[in-house]
Amino acid sequence: MKVILAQHAGFCFGVKRAIKMTAETAKNSQKEIYTYGPIIHNPQVVEKFEQEGVYQVSDIKKIEKGSSIIIRTHGIPPEKEKEFSKKCLNVTDATCPFVKKAQKLAKKLMLDGYQVVILGETEHPEVQGILGYTDNKAIVVGNIKEAEKIKKCAKLGVVVQTTQSMQNFLETVSVLLDKTPEIRVYNTICDATKKRQDSALKLADKVDIMLIVGGKNSANTKHLAELCREKRVPAYHIESALEIKKSWLKGKTLAGVTAGASTPDWIIKNVIKAITAPEGLSKSGLIGHNKKS
Ligand code: SF4
Repeated sequence: MKVILAQHAGFCFGVKRAIKMTAETAKNSQKEIYTYGPIIHNPQVVEKFEQEGVYQVSDIKKIEKGSSIIIRTHGIPPEKEKEFSKKCLNVTDATCPFVKKAQKLAKKLMLDGYQVVILGETEHPEVQGILGYTDNKAIVVGNIKEAEKIKKCAKLGVVVQTTQSMQNFLETVSVLLDKTPEIRVYNTICDATKKRQDSALKLADKVDIMLIVGGKNSANTKHLAELCREKRVPAYHIESALEIKKSWLKGKTLAGVTAGASTPDWIIKNVIKAITAPEGLSKSGLIGHNKKS
């Protein structure tokens, strides 16, 4: 089996930055430190940090006053930032600058009198953070169907979750054009997302099977898998080599591998190794023991 790795795959600028900031904070701290939610959406990286004394919390009431906390790459709403500053001694802001840009633009649109629309996944932490910057007044839509339900209004302002696909963005904006005589649209999809999507699509055209590697909770990895599936090539979203099944590879000669922006190199390398040497697969069809099966 031959394998081609997508030209752009794996860690992006924002994730590398957050990991560096977290590692430095952990190194300089004598005590346990905390991240609000997972620092990035990759369980293996989060687990590795836990071994170094970096723990994720979902409720800061549970941590001691004066602790150190790191704000995740996806950002948080401003009211949470205030809460953190009151309770914690050290607050390290690892919010990706591209997410910060979307937060600032959403706030500006709100202050300029626009009904803000955020294109993204309602429950995603990044979208919740951006929503907070509009005093929770923005409308969140995930696709054309939801955009169609928006009532007509005088001024609409649009920002996008950084990991959305360009196709969904263009389609949704075309529906919003009919809702208002005045629309201001900011394309806040980040460059890393676009590059990963474009190179995954290019690769999916050439191969017999696509493996998309990354956290099951990673929005950008999920979008990569959805895009590849639209190319009608068998496409599997896996977190690690442990999930690969022998049956997927049967009769295939060329595999494509891509990975979300929060997937570390060592996981990608393990996946490539597993496909190029499928004799390592166990009789059950899995490589090693799969906790999820
Ligand atoms: S995918 Fe883009 S927005 Fe998200 S952390 Fe990476 S660079 Fe930042």
